[in-house]
This record gives sequence, C-alpha cells and structure tokens, in this order.
Amino acid sequence: MDVAKALLLLKEKGYKYTDKREQMLQLFSNEKRYIAAKDVLEAMQKDYPGLSFDTIYRNLSTFVELGILEMTELDGEKKFRFSCSTDQHHHHMICLTCGKTRHVHVCPMDQLKVSSEDFKIVDHKFEVYGYCKNCS
Ligand SMILES: [Zn+2]
Ligand SMILES: [Zn+2]
Ligand SMILES: [Zn+2]
Repeated sequence: MDVAKALLLLKEKGYKYTDKREQMLQLFSNEKRYIAAKDVLEAMQKDYPGLSFDTIYRNLSTFVELGILEMTELDGEKKFRFSCSTDQHHHHMICLTCGKTRHVHVCPMDQLKVSSEDFKIVDHKFEVYGYCKNCS
C-alpha cells in the first residue's frame, strides 16, 4: 500500500478527500511500523491542534476496513501500519519496542492438520513477537 493507492481507494469508495486524511496516510508511509492511535494524534496535532482522538480513531477504522491499514493488538493497545504490498502469503515478526516488522515466509497452517469437513477455514492469524536488533 502507498499514499497514492490509498487515496484512490478512498475516492473509489466515496470518501471525500481531506488534507488530514492525506497527512495521516503520509505518516504511515513514513513510519513503516506499527504505531498507536495516540502516536498518530500526537503527530497530527502539530498541524491540526484541534483534532480529536475520535476523528483519528474513526479514520483509522475506515482505513482498516478498506484494507489500507493492518491492525494488531500489542500490550492491549491497538496498533496500525500500512498493509503489505505483496500478495504472497506471509506472517510478521513484530518488535515490541519499535513496532517494526519482518516477514516470515513459512505458515504454521501448512503443518497443522486442522481441516475438517464440518468447518470451512477462511482465514487465520499468526504473529511472532520479540525485539529487533536495534532494540534488544
Ligand atoms: Zn507483511
Ligand atoms: Zn525494534
Ligand atoms: Zn499463514
């Protein structure tokens, strides 16, 4: 995902363009790691002092719904990052300090024999948590 693609997607889905939305997307484009809603608010308040947490949160939810952002919960807090551009199935190793991610190209579902006739699996989640080289 990148800013241009995200803006196009928003337009296609009938969301009107705003400077704030573009700036939020730019922030995620620059950060390339999981960040919390309060970090987004803090960064945005430099240019938009009156901005509320609700507005930030509503936009983040929309972005997740549209597949622009990925969300996960670290330490009981929801964190967001730009969705990966690759279509190739993969998982993430996530640094608990800086929120940076690395790709894992093995999938535990390949090993688990969980398929069953009376349950149709459509998706799964698998994340590895730890500390990157810079943070450990
Ligand atoms: Zn990825
Ligand atoms: Zn780190
Ligand atoms: Zn998988």
